[in-house]
Amino acid sequence: MNESRKDRLKNLAESEQYISGIYNYCDRWCERCTMRSKCLSFAIDPDLRMEDSPRNDLNNEKFWQGIHESFELTFELLRESAEERGFDLNFVPDPDYERRERIRERRIISDPLLKTTMAYAHAVDAWMDERKALFGETATRMDRAIEMDLPGHDPLPIAIALHEAVEMIRWYQFFLYPKITRAISGMEEGEYDRMDDVLGSARIALIAIEHSIGAW
Ligand code: SF4
Repeated sequence: MNESRKDRLKNLAESEQYISGIYNYCDRWCERCTMRSKCLSFAIDPDLRMEDSPRNDLNNEKFWQGIHESFELTFELLRESAEERGFDLNFVPDPDYERRERIRERRIISDPLLKTTMAYAHAVDAWMDERKALFGETATRMDRAIEMDLPGHDPLPIAIALHEAVEMIRWYQFFLYPKITRAISGMEEGEYDRMDDVLGSARIALIAIEHSIGAW
């Protein structure tokens, strides 16, 4: 484990500069975020600062390497913290716990809202794929119009608006599923002590839906 990264994380986590857990209730669009100076996640991961970073690309190995390193670091810090507090992480108080958790997970992922959310994400892919050629033609037409520089006709604002809309739809397409899962999961019986988390997750999902509708 990279000791300097761990120490740096500990030092940052102790700083009062950051708002606890703010990164759980945002849309992860760091480049556009006005709360970056208050965000621990942004401070510890410089790659988050670039929209086109390979660490933000699900299909890039660096994305998964980043996830792997974060998990490794988290487990190590968890182990250290448990040791300091005298907790045994292998202690299983309820042997039936895992079975109940699996049932609960199945119940959550079969929620109609989540099914709709995933169907929407795939529908966006299908819609965009079907119109790939059209998008290409439109871009070529706009390039030509910009080159021609006709008086009284400026296609640039339309090109920018189109780009913005597609970018926004794509950004939120798969973002909704984990946020709604988190909200529904917290709503499960007996977890009302997690209501702040439920509301925070539901709120950012609603914002993402509003932005997506606006973009469409
Ligand atoms: S900087 Fe990024 S991770 Fe942090 S709150 Fe803003 S959008 Fe979220």
